[in-house]
Amino acid sequence: MPDDSAGPPDPSRRRLLIGAGLAAAGMAVGCSSDGGDRATTTTARRTTSTRPPPDLPVDPFTLGVASGDPRTDRIILWTRLAPNPLAADGLGGMTDQPVDVRWQVAADPAFTSIMADGVATAITAHAHTVHVDAKGLDPGTDYHYRFVVGEHTSPVGRTRTLRDGSPEKLALAVVNCQWFETGAYAAYRHLLDEPLDLVLHLGDYIYEFPGAIEGPRTTAPDHLVVSLADYRLRYASYRLDDDLRNAHARFPFVLTWDDHEVANNYMGDVLPGETDPQKGKDRRTAAYQAWWEHLPVRLDPPDGSELAVYQSLDVGDLARIYVLDQRQYSDVPPCRGVPGAENDFGDCPARTDDATRTRLGAEQEAWFKDATGSSTARWNLIGNPVVLAGVDGGSAADGSKYYLDTWDGFPSARRRFIAQLATVDNPVVLTGDYHAGMVLDVHERPFEDSPLVATEFMAPPISSPLFAEDVSARTPQLRQQLNEHGYLAVDVEPDTLTVRFQVLADIGDPASAISTAATWIVTAGSPRAEPA
Ligand code: FE
Ligand code: CA
Repeated sequence: MPDDSAGPPDPSRRRLLIGAGLAAAGMAVGCSSDGGDRATTTTARRTTSTRPPPDLPVDPFTLGVASGDPRTDRIILWTRLAPNPLAADGLGGMTDQPVDVRWQVAADPAFTSIMADGVATAITAHAHTVHVDAKGLDPGTDYHYRFVVGEHTSPVGRTRTLRDGSPEKLALAVVNCQWFETGAYAAYRHLLDEPLDLVLHLGDYIYEFPGAIEGPRTTAPDHLVVSLADYRLRYASYRLDDDLRNAHARFPFVLTWDDHEVANNYMGDVLPGETDPQKGKDRRTAAYQAWWEHLPVRLDPPDGSELAVYQSLDVGDLARIYVLDQRQYSDVPPCRGVPGAENDFGDCPARTDDATRTRLGAEQEAWFKDATGSSTARWNLIGNPVVLAGVDGGSAADGSKYYLDTWDGFPSARRRFIAQLATVDNPVVLTGDYHAGMVLDVHERPFEDSPLVATEFMAPPISSPLFAEDVSARTPQLRQQLNEHGYLAVDVEPDTLTVRFQVLADIGDPASAISTAATWIVTAGSPRAEPA
């Protein structure tokens, strides 16, 4: 991860400014501030614009604002200029000119007390997105932010820095799997009522399938997403949803990805059904670029088909959050092409142990060992895209059937990972991908009578179709299965970690009610979760 070269800011440089005046078009404010330095190609370290405001007769802030990857003193702020967000070329109706975007962070929603500001340059090569690293902020503090271009001012976003020291609480939501066409985003609307520090997104942010499937909603483009323009259009379609846009404007997000950000069940450079690895690389290059562009991530732009998204975040000494990538560096699932394992669902002798097979890749695995080895946090929360504890979807009469693109396809790598997990205090695994809610015991040797290492909480999907088969017959480590849509609300306190499964009454209804379907508690010192 790149870091900034600027020294810590001087709190005394905080200023009182009159918000209305500052918001005036293109007004140069000659006070010192850090410009964002995340991506030097898009964000110059300066506070005044040298370019004339562009001719933008239409509001360019159609895709809203977002924040993410908070630290104790800084946060990434995002927007994209897109007066015509669904323009077929994926460029949002912008011309080929760079555009200076003023950004402001304030303590109050009227922007009378500006805490940080600057100018970032939005360029065509990044679809006129900006990623600003707003610095000099206080820990555990709420802020308001907005962007200004010419006469246009963006919606006001709210965000929050990470707490430091010995926090009494961390509140996060865990979300994943938000296939747009198959359901409404009522879950995101209900998130707005939660007093969250951050939202952890475990992937399947978009789906690459043709956007014109039968259903209540459609996205652009109508065909399978393949090119950079396609991926940009798909992200823009998703972000035109009010509930998703409002959630981004309300909370900082921390994100990783799963498969559908590129292609269903892709692994490494391999697309299912495609033997040419260059095709996989090209697809990744386009997909990673659009992912980086559209999300508020603390990352430089991807280098071709490479983008290291795994990271850890510290919330004082209360929690270390690890965010993992389980697609980019992974070997392909076993049993491909074997009868009885169609669509990577089933079993075969090749599934069994091969210590050379990797899920995380050597570098990420070494990083995870270091990051866990150095942790002194009370709780160690694993943002784990695909299920770890093991799920056998076979019936009692039939043989085992595994989703082989989960950790079940990588038993040897999984044992190494769980052994490392066992070295930290109070590990808790937070998982996505499966399109169900579950509570699972993570054993040292999954499916075997072996020591319990952690509890795994699987977040229900935001909107993707449920995989509603009961897996209890052959999954002894399953504690509960909830075939519902929604999200997890996780409250971390020094002595307890409480997980609420928040589930929707009607996935087709954007106004759907939500309720708590289950509450589980993990007490520090014991890995076994108990129903509240
Ligand atoms: Fe999914
Ligand atoms: Ca997935």
